[in-house]
Amino acid sequence: MKQVWQCDFCTYTGEHTKVAAHEAKCVFNPANRKCMTCKHRTDEGAPISGFWNGCALKVANQFDVEDGDADCAKWEQLPDKD
Ligand SMILES: [Zn+2]
Repeated sequence: MKQVWQCDFCTYTGEHTKVAAHEAKCVFNPANRKCMTCKHRTDEGAPISGFWNGCALKVANQFDVEDGDADCAKWEQLPDKD
């Protein structure tokens, strides 16, 4: 049996150092202010072409934000669902 760690924000698992590095840049970590945790995210695409994140506010640098090359000025955290 082998012990594994899991990301606090998604299903990524692995050895401690790998998961710690992953968590720091995980798209589901709200600290990274990416589309997956933003209330302005929309679903774009179709079953035949696949889906990707859209932005209700149409921020110009959305894909740079998702690639980690830029910060999003319009990001707002999704409210907790409960
Ligand atoms: Zn993760």
